Amino acid sequence: MAKGKIKVQADNIFPIIKKFLYTDQEIFLRELVSNAVDATTKLKKLSSIGEVKGDLGDLKIEIVLNKEDKTISIIDKGIGMTSDEVKQYINQVAFSGAEDFIKKYDDKDDKSGIIGHFGLGFYSAFMVAERVQIRTKSHINNTKACSWECDGSPEYVLKDIDKNDRGTEIVLFISEDANEYLEDAKISNLLNKYCKFLPVEIKFGTTTKKEKNDKDEDVEFVEDNIINNPKPAWTIPPKQLKPQDYKDFFRELYPFNFEEALFHIHLNVDFPFELTGILYFPKINPSMDLNKQKIQLYCNQVFVTDSLEGVVPDFLALLQGVIDSPDIPLNVSRSALQSDANVKKISSHISKKVSGRLNDMFKKDRADFESKWTDMNIIVEYGMLSDEKFYDRSQDFALYKTVGNKFYTMSEFTELIKEHQKNKDNKIVYLYTNNPDTQHMYISKATEKNYQVLVLDSPIVSHVIQKLESKLDNASFVRVDSDIVDNLIKQDSKIESVLSEKEQEKIKSLFEKCLGKEGFVVSLQPLSPDSPAIAITQAEFMRRMKEMSMTGGGGMMGMGAMPDSFNVIINSNHKLIDKIQKMKGKKQTSLVQQAIDLALLSQNLLKGESLTKYIDNCFSGLSN
Ligand code: ADP
Repeated sequence: MAKGKIKVQADNIFPIIKKFLYTDQEIFLRELVSNAVDATTKLKKLSSIGEVKGDLGDLKIEIVLNKEDKTISIIDKGIGMTSDEVKQYINQVAFSGAEDFIKKYDDKDDKSGIIGHFGLGFYSAFMVAERVQIRTKSHINNTKACSWECDGSPEYVLKDIDKNDRGTEIVLFISEDANEYLEDAKISNLLNKYCKFLPVEIKFGTTTKKEKNDKDEDVEFVEDNIINNPKPAWTIPPKQLKPQDYKDFFRELYPFNFEEALFHIHLNVDFPFELTGILYFPKINPSMDLNKQKIQLYCNQVFVTDSLEGVVPDFLALLQGVIDSPDIPLNVSRSALQSDANVKKISSHISKKVSGRLNDMFKKDRADFESKWTDMNIIVEYGMLSDEKFYDRSQDFALYKTVGNKFYTMSEFTELIKEHQKNKDNKIVYLYTNNPDTQHMYISKATEKNYQVLVLDSPIVSHVIQKLESKLDNASFVRVDSDIVDNLIKQDSKIESVLSEKEQEKIKSLFEKCLGKEGFVVSLQPLSPDSPAIAITQAEFMRRMKEMSMTGGGGMMGMGAMPDSFNVIINSNHKLIDKIQKMKGKKQTSLVQQAIDLALLSQNLLKGESLTKYIDNCFSGLSN
């Protein structure tokens, strides 16, 4: 038996570790289990190159909870350590990792960012244990097994022990204030969170199963409870996987998600960095809990984090699935992660892969792509807004739907309209609707004239339009209800007014008086007699700016709070206006009032008392 002292700078390192890492205590299990996995993988490697001879036997790693002794043991059958190796690896290597940690972060106030990502390794055990024992036997023939024990003071005890099987057993004597880790459910949860896809089988307890025997009787049998899938889909070459395998893996990742993904992208990069993974394009719907189904980041199959904000571009964070890379620096803070050159390359690589995949799908089967478009539209739009390169690449496949349910790329669509949809300034007019139901009247007026109307109805549409206008040549986007279509699109022939200027003035002031509301601007226009008598419109620019400021960024500050303003356009060539013009007194004002109410009603602008009054009047009209 040998007693030794770990060389310490700080008086006692362990209380410090405990205190610093308190918030992320639970990572101790991940660290110890991944050490066990490493030891096992190393053994397999040595065996494959002939340095270790013979059958390796069962290599399962086992986690054992002993509530009476208050211990958790992590048992592996990996390479093990000789007592010299324990001195070197545990007393020096592992310790220096812990010591580095203290040195770097001792004087930092904000530890929240670093804690989860610092691979503290072996010494993280002291966050939950008052005493730790290592019992280990090396794979090297004729070496003695040894035990190392330490109670959190700089002193340790190293002695020879009897242990016949190869490998390492780490025994944690759980401290009073970490009792929660002695619960099966707690350990189960942690294993499920951090170890679900580790590459070596991990056993935690047993499960009893029932099966029918030959005589059709129920017999019970006990089976190891293996908590992980050592060969998750992303580690298997894509050629060996069937579509169903990807679906199954999606379910494995997000057991509580009942939607299927639209499609997936299998990432497999060796150069200039190593990266594997599977990303799924989800069906975006409002009820989806984006927080529960985030992309998970792994490092050699060890779960690291699922909060990748700022690490991958925001729009890619809407995707789901896993990314596994040994090249992402895990032992650093989030801000270091965000500015890391490799991480940046990885982001832009993923963005390129995503657009490449979308483009392939588009080319291969356009009809299928169109059928999925509505569900993925918003992710692509978000990408177009936030990643300039993605915008450029998306021009090949991003689709725009018309009210006639046809899909076009922007260049196809422009080709379709560029000759006959122009405004007075000779700009190409892209008519759109964000709500075909409520804007039906305006849409039908436009389609009657064979104009094309796009359906742009995503919540970020005003930003997308702003972007498109800045990118396309000579383009002007206007919502169908932003004006009379004959004003939006330049007409060949000019229509004369049947009313004289004087008569027009009279009608105008009559309507203004009856409207009596702020925010409505009345004007008379000679339109074709079959255009509506009165149309209420909202100018494109102000409305769009307002929408943008309400959905964040891009718009003018404070626009969201501005009152709406509407244009009331009266068709001076309409029969109704002619009729009003010829009337007098109360009858006239009453007809004007009804016409106004009807126009307001058509735009869902008639509310409260005015609406009640109007409806009451209509009913009495019907009964007379
Ligand atoms: P890291 O794993 O980052 O190297 P650790 O502090 O976790 O740092 O461990 C230090 C060293 O101790 C490891 O590199 C390894 O050589 C040795 N070690 C730890 N756990 C085991 C184990 N279960 N079996 C064999 N060696 C181990």
